[in-house]
Amino acid sequence: MHKKFYELTPDERLASLKLTPAAQQAWQHEQSTLNAQIIENYISDFRVPTGLLHDIVVAGQRVTVPMATEEPSVIAAANHGAKMLNAGGGVTVTLPERTALIGQLLFSDVSAAAIEKFVTAQQTVFFSVAKQAKPSIYRRGGGLLFVVARTVSETMVSVDFTIDTKDAMGANIVNTILEAEQAVFSDFQTHFVGAILSNYATAQCVTVTGQVPISLVGGPVVAKRLVQLNQFGHADIYRATTENKGLFNGIGAVTLATGNDWRAVEAAGHAFASHTGRYQSLTTWRIAGDFIEGRLTMPITVGTVGGAISAMPQAQRALALMGVAHADALRGVILAVGLAQNLAALKAIANGGIQKGHMKMQYRALAIQVGATADEITDLVRQLAATTTVDADVARNLLLEMRK
Ligand code: NDP
Repeated sequence: MHKKFYELTPDERLASLKLTPAAQQAWQHEQSTLNAQIIENYISDFRVPTGLLHDIVVAGQRVTVPMATEEPSVIAAANHGAKMLNAGGGVTVTLPERTALIGQLLFSDVSAAAIEKFVTAQQTVFFSVAKQAKPSIYRRGGGLLFVVARTVSETMVSVDFTIDTKDAMGANIVNTILEAEQAVFSDFQTHFVGAILSNYATAQCVTVTGQVPISLVGGPVVAKRLVQLNQFGHADIYRATTENKGLFNGIGAVTLATGNDWRAVEAAGHAFASHTGRYQSLTTWRIAGDFIEGRLTMPITVGTVGGAISAMPQAQRALALMGVAHADALRGVILAVGLAQNLAALKAIANGGIQKGHMKMQYRALAIQVGATADEITDLVRQLAATTTVDADVARNLLLEMRK
């Protein structure tokens, strides 16, 4: 019988692509039977390099943090930023009393007053429906915290369910509870539009702060310029977008290494960057006496269990290496890395530009690109670093010279 594409095995899918034997073998070389179960239409793995932020002090604890990234210089910069923050006493973390995810039941062409009245009257019912829909999250100390009707426009209302999902990121937990709650709204069935969690996780806004002696960032002139750069990130969307991208170099790398959903983290971060009505840098830096002080606040939806984390041993290994057992601790570490990453980038720009340090790291990728073997890379990188103008042709010619 003819199988549908999604019913094929990974090898059958590869065979259907009519690749060269070498290409097919290369794809097969990276296959994993475990990962084939995680996504659909699996053919092979895509390996991302994982490196270490060796030592960052977060909430008084020294943490070693795995970072998965394809971008050279990110991990070097994170280590540099962390070293400076450690010298100022490390990063402090402030969490809300209970971190929670918000789920939405959406209604259109409806009277906000009618829904509000209904939501007020049904509070007890909502709590008992949530408990029945997901008893295990109650056994773990989580569950529904509150329900409010929020007017979105003259005709649109969102009923927001705030749910503590404990150490899970919680998307599935919230959606399970929401779909059960939907039945309570039978009187409003014709106005019902949909039930889905919100990634704008404002009930899990976390703040990290750190300070660095001004002497360590290169003195008062560099410190002032660093703060001014950050002020641009608050006034100018062009600068803000790039500053936040740099921050997510760190945040995304730890999120990925721990098997978490980096799209969810980025979506929440970028949305929060516009919470004043204007897209701005997520960090704020200022001079305070002999120190510069930095602060980063954003919602962060991550877990230490559930989703892909529980399915991927490498994610569990990463969490074990960090010594992080709970989602709230992970939130603090991820944002601390974001602050360190931001500090390193601002310092580099304020102190003569990022290109010098960045390109040195990029030269390794360039060496590989032009065909250098493992034992040729170090030599070629050294030669590239000593060359004024570098491009692929220059690298190729240097490699040819080296091989003579
Ligand atoms: P799961 O569906 O895997 O739920 C987590 C499960 O972990 C719980 O149901 C619970 O099972 C178990 N668990 C074990 N220990 C704990 C603990 N200490 N605290 C909490 N739960 C615990 O994952 P999530 O609900 O977290 O959903 C995350 C996944 O959803 C991610 O893969 C994400 O990519 C995806 N997703 C994201 C969306 C979005 O962001 N918009 C939309 C839809 C999905 P039990 O208690 O029953 O044993």
